[in-house]
Amino acid sequence: MVSYKELGLVNTREMFKAAVDGGYAIPAFNFNNMEQMQAIVQACAETKSPVILQVSSGARKYANQTLLRYMAQGAVEYAKELGWERPQICLHLDHGDTYELCKSCVDMGFSSVMIDGSSKSFDENIELTKRVVEYAHQYDVVVEGELGVLAGIEDDVCAEKSNYTRPEDVIEFVNRTGVDSLAISIGTSHGAFKFTPAQCTRDANGHLVPPPLRFDILHEIEKKLPGFPIVLHGSSSVPQEFVEIINSNGGALKDSVGIPEEQLREASKSAVCKINIDSDGRLAMTAAIRKFMVESPDKFDPRQYLGPARESLKQLYIHKVKEVLGSAGHAE
Ligand SMILES: [Zn+2]
Repeated sequence: MVSYKELGLVNTREMFKAAVDGGYAIPAFNFNNMEQMQAIVQACAETKSPVILQVSSGARKYANQTLLRYMAQGAVEYAKELGWERPQICLHLDHGDTYELCKSCVDMGFSSVMIDGSSKSFDENIELTKRVVEYAHQYDVVVEGELGVLAGIEDDVCAEKSNYTRPEDVIEFVNRTGVDSLAISIGTSHGAFKFTPAQCTRDANGHLVPPPLRFDILHEIEKKLPGFPIVLHGSSSVPQEFVEIINSNGGALKDSVGIPEEQLREASKSAVCKINIDSDGRLAMTAAIRKFMVESPDKFDPRQYLGPARESLKQLYIHKVKEVLGSAGHAE
């Protein structure tokens, strides 16, 4: 048993309270390797933004969970070395699907876990979530639950159709489970192809414009649970400049579409206090690497393409914390 406190990590309790009161959201960025971790820490140390390092079950399979945990510990030390005296870094399990997985993360130093019982019945979701909460809270680890189903594909999470969260369910869910935060479904979606062209309109440049987020549902939930931390998954914006670089350098991403940043900025001002961004980082890295490969066919040192990919990712994260989520400057 390793406590996250020994690793210098924090849970999200204080972070979320400050974010709800201050009208901003904490970024949750996924990582699977060293360059992604470096980009996250550099961006957040430079802007003094609290941050959630997010590990999916796909990342655990890809990179090994022991290694990821030591990398998170390394992230705290690295942040200090970069001049961030009191780094506010949380290590979070994204989309845990069993009690055993969540327990194992709590036992090995995670400060936050998500138990995603959203595919189960309401009562089964409550039962599973409550069990995880009871275990995690013994060690001051916080728990995110989910009500409602997001469409799209993300690592092992896949659903064809979204089911919006029903505001009439949230009070009972939160009271019976004791969760610390709640992921809701109001029209965000996992992956880089969030909507079909048929669900969208097109702007003057021919880019797809998705249906707007259901702010009416969000506001109803806020009314039922005043000040309670709400989480948005699937909140990449799929910047078209990355898609264009990818496609003009041999890629084939057709009709990719994300959530407009203005809507995420709007959501950040409400009880939404954690916003998950994964696909945008994937696109930034892939665009930089594809461009390098096409422009420099004679180079073969991985540092030569992972370096610019890391820099592009860092700039993306700085943009997100400053311009979209508003979390910059809140972890001095
Ligand atoms: Zn998700």
